[in-house]
Amino acid sequence: MGEFDVIARYFKRPARRAALGIGDDCALLQPAPGTQLAISCDMLVQGRHFFADVNPHSLGHKALAVNLSDLAACGAKPLAFTLALALPDANASWLAAFAQGLFELADAHDCELIGGDTTAGPLNICITVYGEVPLVNGRSLALLRSGARAGDDLYVSGTLGDARLALNALQGKLSVSASVLRAARERLERPTPRVALGLALRDIASAAIDLSDGLIGDLSHILKSSQVGASLQVDRLLPCIGCYPGSAYAKAEDQVDLTLEQWRTLALAGGDDYELLFTAPPGRRAAVALAAQSSQTPVHHIGQISANPGLRLLDAQGLLLPNPYASFDHFA
Ligand code: ADP
Ligand code: MG
Repeated sequence: MGEFDVIARYFKRPARRAALGIGDDCALLQPAPGTQLAISCDMLVQGRHFFADVNPHSLGHKALAVNLSDLAACGAKPLAFTLALALPDANASWLAAFAQGLFELADAHDCELIGGDTTAGPLNICITVYGEVPLVNGRSLALLRSGARAGDDLYVSGTLGDARLALNALQGKLSVSASVLRAARERLERPTPRVALGLALRDIASAAIDLSDGLIGDLSHILKSSQVGASLQVDRLLPCIGCYPGSAYAKAEDQVDLTLEQWRTLALAGGDDYELLFTAPPGRRAAVALAAQSSQTPVHHIGQISANPGLRLLDAQGLLLPNPYASFDHFA
């Protein structure tokens, strides 16, 4: 199977929204009047972002999911994406499963594959997504990292830490039951981009970011861009961990035995969560609750933004905790 067979067989589908899809030197995408294009690019590299033996269906899902998560963080509606793919060989069953995982998520978000590049090489997947944000009276409704204000509430969506729990278990750093591993691994390999929540928060959130490198590190991006500080109620994060006793995936018979410190580390510095971290004025609490409800996404109030710079971690008693938590950095 040659390069052009790979494209034609696995990736080329009739153009829908795009004015021109796969097959020419460029794709053509017509932004709707009164909108801005939101554009983001994320690369997944074997050995860095996934194991060589990862299920290709999950990999197709994740490669697009991490990109859709960036659109979600900006409150952008997905439109289209390109796929640059380096493959060691043209393995038919691998490609079929990868394309299926990719297109299932793409179709769920009505996001169209409009082009890409295909080359031989070490497995590497680079997707660029294009989304749409309305302009209202010339003002963009995009959610940015820079909009947090002193007094705002700080929220996080969904579940935290389970992806890292799965990674640690797969690397043999801790042992968990098969059913815990299954639930946690689902979060690692098939994250849910919070697109509906991002759209629902467009006129409500003052700032937003998606969590890819760990909550502490990603929160610090909001604080820096917005030139504010925050206090974080660390123990409010623990029930957000799906595998934490009493939480979403936890079953009494196979509880994970970690110390408080280990649970805190999962929630604060886990990474690969692809949840939304966002701020909103306290006057918008009812609107935030409605956005959570309409998007069917749990949202948790976890702290406050302050004028006072820096990040303060507080325990359940309101006592200050040390902050040794490092976020992920490819070159650190
Ligand atoms: P060019 O040489 O002009 O860059 P290519 O021969 O690489 O074009 O690609 C031919 C067509 O197939 C282009 O429309 C390109 O966007 C598309 N394409 C290539 N690889 C992929 C891929 N992995 N997924 C989707 N479209 C692809
Ligand atoms: Mg060309």
